[in-house]
Amino acid sequence: MRLTEHFSLEEMTTSAMATRQGLSNVPGADELENIRYTAGRMEVVRDLLGVPISVLSCFRAEAVNQAVGGSPTSAHRYGLACDFRAPAFGDVRAICRKLNVARQQGLIDFDQLICEFPDTGGWVHIGFRRSAAANRHQVLTARKENGRTAYVSGVV
Ligand SMILES: [Zn+2]
Repeated sequence: MRLTEHFSLEEMTTSAMATRQGLSNVPGADELENIRYTAGRMEVVRDLLGVPISVLSCFRAEAVNQAVGGSPTSAHRYGLACDFRAPAFGDVRAICRKLNVARQQGLIDFDQLICEFPDTGGWVHIGFRRSAAANRHQVLTARKENGRTAYVSGVV
């Protein structure tokens, strides 16, 4: 099912973990509305980057979220976050810097932008709130320090 011009429900509910473990990753009605909202936000991301987006993960049903070790309150649980790459634009740092500047220019709004493990390829996590006023505009970089995940402020 096509949600927006460039994003389908199939890609927004795809999960390598769900496939591997045979877990169902089907959203409920409210979650589907959130996914549709996120797909709309991702059209803005795609416009800003000017290249196709490769979605790694958007919605995660409870069992899928547990399987990947996600926080119980992860925005992915509600279909309000998207992990992606856009290799035709550049690496994940370049993408995060572009989106951070675009937010400062008022061209996009988000709750959280995380540059996830850029030293090993990584991916971009972007999260949204349904109410724009609730967006925290948090920009972080995740990296491994002594085997543990540490978050630092900004794109570094
Ligand atoms: Zn994520």
